[in-house]
Amino acid sequence: MEIACLDLEGVLVPEIWIAFAERTGIDALRATTRDIPDYDVLMRQRLALLDQHRLRLDDIQDVIASLRPLDGAVEFVDWLREHFQVVILSDTFYEFAAPLMRQLGWPALLCHRLEIDGDGRVVDYRLRQAHPKRSAVLAFQGLNYRVIAAGDSYNDIAMLDAAEAGILFRPPQNVIDEFPQFPVTRSYEELHGAFCAASQRPLS
Ligand SMILES: [Mg+2]
Repeated sequence: MEIACLDLEGVLVPEIWIAFAERTGIDALRATTRDIPDYDVLMRQRLALLDQHRLRLDDIQDVIASLRPLDGAVEFVDWLREHFQVVILSDTFYEFAAPLMRQLGWPALLCHRLEIDGDGRVVDYRLRQAHPKRSAVLAFQGLNYRVIAAGDSYNDIAMLDAAEAGILFRPPQNVIDEFPQFPVTRSYEELHGAFCAASQRPLS
């Protein structure tokens, strides 16, 4: 049995925080896991910026509602779901993800939660568990699934490493240079091909 684990932002949808930075003009919000490998450091910086600029959950959700999946992502997920159980392993938050997951046909999503106060301000975040992507892969393997995983960034490496097959999709050059053990794909056609190559079953 095989299961496909996909990162969300940068693989199927745009980077939510970059879109939000562009909409608000707050350049420091552009930082992502591509720039700051330590997720807690990155999130503390984001929460401080939201507080400093008095931005609330509503403001972020308004931007997310205008985002669309990357070109070809919907078709790719449709194909993948014909051949694999598909789970999205993301470091985003359920409070952000719904409009995008609707457009992707509601695949299973494991991510985190935000803490919102009575005024709609984002005051904290709660990781689902430590090492969430890697832990999910190990759990699926414990259920006797063989895992094929794809991601684009630092926060995916532990997932790709734990999986039976790990694939990079449109990664930045620094990730390619640091982790040359993973095949690099740049289009959904190539990603499709990489899943076919990694599977133990004949796929087309
Ligand atoms: Mg990503």
